[in-house]
Parts: sequence; structure tokens; C-alpha cells
Amino acid sequence: MNDQCVLIAGGGPVGLICAYALGRAGVPVVVFDENDELQEDPRAATTHPATLELLDQIDVVDEVAARGLTARTFQFWDRPTGELVAEFDHDLLRDDTKFPYVVQCEQFKLCEIIKSRVDQLAGCDYHFSHRVTAVRTESDRVIVTVDTPDGPAEHAGRYLIGCDGGRSLVRKQAGIKFDGFTWPERFLVLSTQFDFEANRGMCYRNYVADPDEWCNCFKVAGDGPPGIWRTVYPVDPEAPEDELLADAFTQQKLQAFFPIDEPYDIIHRNLYNVHQRVAATFRKGRVLLAGDAAHVNNSIGGMGLNGGIQDAINLAEKLARVWHGEADESALDLYDLQRRTYAVEFVQQQTIQNKKRLETKDPETRRQSMDELRATAEDPKRAREFLLGSSMIAAMRRAGKMQLAAK
Ligand SMILES: Cc1cc2nc3c(=O)[nH]c(=O)nc-3n(C[C@H](O)[C@H](O)[C@H](O)COP(=O)(O)OP(=O)(O)OC[C@H]3O[C@@H](n4cnc5c(N)ncnc54)[C@H](O)[C@@H]3O)c2cc1C
Repeated sequence: MNDQCVLIAGGGPVGLICAYALGRAGVPVVVFDENDELQEDPRAATTHPATLELLDQIDVVDEVAARGLTARTFQFWDRPTGELVAEFDHDLLRDDTKFPYVVQCEQFKLCEIIKSRVDQLAGCDYHFSHRVTAVRTESDRVIVTVDTPDGPAEHAGRYLIGCDGGRSLVRKQAGIKFDGFTWPERFLVLSTQFDFEANRGMCYRNYVADPDEWCNCFKVAGDGPPGIWRTVYPVDPEAPEDELLADAFTQQKLQAFFPIDEPYDIIHRNLYNVHQRVAATFRKGRVLLAGDAAHVNNSIGGMGLNGGIQDAINLAEKLARVWHGEADESALDLYDLQRRTYAVEFVQQQTIQNKKRLETKDPETRRQSMDELRATAEDPKRAREFLLGSSMIAAMRRAGKMQLAAK
């Protein structure tokens, strides 16, 4: 069995970026994905400045921007009063980053872009309809069992990266815990072509706070103009799924937030369970974790895939140096240190805080929170600090400077 490659379980956005970044660095990779084609996944869209900088490093940022929408601003609204509380403009970061804006590009488009690059790279093999079912490690290699259309097969590699999503089999087989919690409510995502900018004065990214039921409202490019608006709501965990996705409920949800005289044209409707969890380690010997396999969080603030892309680029850079004999394996511990600290101390805290800000029930806490947002947005110095956080720049750069303690 040839083991002169890095194996990647899961060829979603994070697995693809790992493969592409490693392949470009001259490391042979083999990717296994259980699906028979790329999924038209309506999940992630927001790509933050910190991540755009990394996509620039691998020369894909222009293509991602061309297929998405550029959004310079985002807004906070208060539902009970209908007030636009605060607007933040990324242009305040023009001296901090080459990308003072976010790009709203659906994750399936990112996958298509990277997959076409991967297909052109020698030494980069991507296999659809290959489900990894077991992992075992030997002293100098990792062996995976894979269900293929021709039956089970074994493949060996020097390392294995688990990019196989929140339910990661690789993480489970490596015996790595995934502690954290699951929110009681589910998130309902409803997409429509109704124009919230023209009719409601919203920008391309909006957060609506409400003590009973908050909402997020975003624009994505879809198949081109006029684009698609996605709205997100918390819904009752006990209610049956078919009821939550039925016309009666979905129409009522949209009409309650944004009343119009006719029924909404609802293009997509999806329900998600929402978790906050981080793997106990991102490295166990020759097994590494990246993306949702390593960390999951609620989608308010759009940080999940951004964190995964950042993992992929960080890991690929270190693993390539190990592969070429330019670094020892402690570089992989450094990956764990930098990216796990970032996930625990930044992404988890930030996304939990983002959710609490929108759902807080206590009137006094709500008032303080809205006042704080308003005052922050009105003061350019404070607004820049806020944006360095929301755009993931400050924390990613801070984590990138961490070093292992001397032994
Ligand atoms: C409603 C919603 C909105 C979101 N919005 C944003 C956003 O705006 N910005 C953002 O940054 N993030 C966002 N996220 C999070 C984002 O979607 C995830 O973080 C992202 O999909 C993680 O990518 P991944 O490649 O790690 O995992 P996945 O996308 O889950 O991909 C895993 C892949 O592995 C494959 N696989 C699984 N098991 C196996 C196996 N055993 N063998 C072989 N293949 C396997 C799967 O088929 C899949 O292709 C959102 C999430 C939701 C639910």
C-alpha cells in the first residue's frame, strides 16, 4: 500500500482547501468524500476580511469575490421599536487589511472554485462516493477503511486530516472528545427574493434583536441579480419538522417580521440543530482535525467556515514544512495550540455573545446592550476595535503569534 501521501476524510469546503493548499506546496493528497457530487449547500456565505487575506494567499480570492456580493456594512436593528440601532462600516479597517469588506459567497460556490483547482493539480486525488468507515494508526502511518462503489478498500497515508464535519468519524475513531453544549432551539433558514434593501432600508447583513424571537437577514448572490435574501429565526425544538417547514408556519414567520400584502415566494427552507463544541485536541499523533470536525458554533456572526478555512491554511503550511523535512512534528502541536486556543477563546465566546445580544429578554440589559452598540458605532476608534473583532482579524493574528512553551 502506497503511503506517501496525506489522507483527507471529507471533501467539503475545509477538506478541499486543505487539499489545495497542500497540493500547491508539493504534498501528495488523497481526499475521500461520501457524497457522489458537490452539495449545493446553502449554509455559510459570509467570508470575513481575515479569511479573505488567506484566500488571497492561495490565489482564489478574486474568483470568490466575483461569484459573491461585496458587503462593506452591517446593521443592528431593534425589532420592538423598529429602530436601526447601529451600522458598522468595514472601511474603517482600510489601513488594517487589503480587504475592508466581507464577501457573501455561498459555500457551494467556494467548493466549486477549489474543486476545479484541485482537479488541475498533479498529485491531488479527490474521490466521490468514498465513505471513510474506520481509522487505525501505526507507528509511521495511518490506515483508513473506505466504503467505495467497488466495495471496502484500505488506504494508507503518512497523516490523516479529519475534515468530515461536526459528526466526524475521524474524531470519534481517534477517541477525541467533543465537549460543549447544544442549544435547545433550532435555527430555521428561509430564503426569498423579496428585496429587503429596497423595501426595508436594510444592507446586505442585518441582525435584528428581539426579546421573543430574533432574526438575521442577509443577501447572497444566488444565480445572479436580483440575488437571494436569507432570513434566520430560532424555532421551538419540540415542534415537528414538517410543521416548521410547512407554508403556514414559514409564511407566518416572515410576515410577522416583515409584513407585506402578498405571500412570500420562499425559495429554500432549512432547519439546523445548533451546537457550541470544541474538540479536546486538534492533533492526536498522525491524526489531525480541521473545520467543523474540530469546532462547531452557532451561525450568528458567520464564523464557522471562516474558522475552518483558517485552520486549513494554518495546518497546510505547517504540515507541508514537516513533509519536506523543514520542520519537525512539533509544528503540528503548534497548529493545535494556535487554532484550538482561537476556537475556544475567541470563536466560542464571540458567537455565544452574538446570540445573547440578539435574544436578551431583560429590558434593562437590552437597553444597555443597544446603547453600547449605538455608542460604539458612533465613535470611529471604538467602531474600528469592534470591527477588528467581528472581522476575525485581531484574534487570528494574535493566535498566529502563539508559540509552544520551551521544553
Ligand atoms: C445556517 C448556517 C449558516 C452558516 N453560515 C455561515 C457563515 O456565514 N459563515 C461561516 O463561516 N460559517 C457559516 N456556517 C458554518 C459552516 O456551514 C460550516 O462551518 C462549514 O460547512 C464547515 O465546513 P467543513 O468542510 O468543516 O464541514 P462540512 O461542510 O460538514 O463538510 C464535511 C464533508 O465531509 C463529508 N463526510 C462526512 N463524513 C464522512 C466520512 N465518514 N467519509 C467521507 N466523507 C465524509 C461530508 O459529506 C461533507 O462533504 C453556517 C452554518 C449554518 C448551519
